[in-house]
Amino acid sequence: MSLITDILRFTKEGIYCPKGDFWIDPSRKKNMAIITHAHRDHAAPGHIQYICHHDTGKLIKLFFGEKTPVTLLDYHESITINGVKITLFPAGHVLGSSQVLLEYNGMRCVVAGDYKTDDDGVIPSFETVNCDVFVTESTFAKPHYIWDDQNTVMDDMNHWWQSNREQGITSIVLAYSLGKSQRILKHVDHKIGTIYISEQIDRINKVYTSSGVTMPSCAVIETWLPPSDLEGSLIVVPSISQYLNLQTLVKKDVRRVSGWILDGWIANEGFALSDHADWDGLNTAVKATGAERIYVQHGFTSYYTKYLKEQGYEAYDTRQCIKRGTELELF
Ligand SMILES: [Zn+2]
Ligand SMILES: [Zn+2]
Repeated sequence: MSLITDILRFTKEGIYCPKGDFWIDPSRKKNMAIITHAHRDHAAPGHIQYICHHDTGKLIKLFFGEKTPVTLLDYHESITINGVKITLFPAGHVLGSSQVLLEYNGMRCVVAGDYKTDDDGVIPSFETVNCDVFVTESTFAKPHYIWDDQNTVMDDMNHWWQSNREQGITSIVLAYSLGKSQRILKHVDHKIGTIYISEQIDRINKVYTSSGVTMPSCAVIETWLPPSDLEGSLIVVPSISQYLNLQTLVKKDVRRVSGWILDGWIANEGFALSDHADWDGLNTAVKATGAERIYVQHGFTSYYTKYLKEQGYEAYDTRQCIKRGTELELF
């Protein structure tokens, strides 16, 4: 079997594959970049060649321009680069999100990127991929992050909107344009009233639709719309800073949609809905891969690495790997 250092190197600029001479989610311009998904902290502009899932490719072109050079793959489709076989599997995070399986000389490494294990009813669900080495995220890797069932959260949101509407209050939810918004729009009860969305959410919805996800049609919020037009409606936007008409609305109720709601440090109340795995989701996913060696990135890396070690895994905090310049050292 090959050495892990042939396949993965954790650097400040992302994950590098030495044998394949390509990168995964690099933050700086590279010759060849495999992109797990189109969120900006994973998909940087300017790479010479992008390799990603078809749907991520559409989003990357939407964000960076039609001429962006992308090599497109389906889920379960493989390509081999410099002897390293690359296959993508659904990560269940946002449209096109992929886990990247790297196979070289008998070793199987999966870089999961961002993922969630719950089925959101919008995109293909997270798929377990058996491997020797699993690279997991750890955004919500603490035991108090446990999500309620999506139906429960959406019921709460529907009741909240309905009750606001009856009092002439405009309901505003703040949600990421890619992923969270589509989930809300797909599951909120459109019979309650008019739904307004930002232009960017509308553009992203069209990509979802072109990829076979039926999205309900919504009105696009315009800055010139008078407050009386918005009364009692539901508005889904990433932030209200660019909308003077929303800022000056007197009767409004603004809620954030985020997993961080569970911490209570976000000033306004909100709905705890996340596109990342919760504590149980992470542990289930890690165990199901059958991997003995786990690398922990993005989030509570030291906390989760320590926890995994206590469970008997050979676990590594990638922040320490970067600092020490090795993927092998035990610490
Ligand atoms: Zn993401
Ligand atoms: Zn991320």
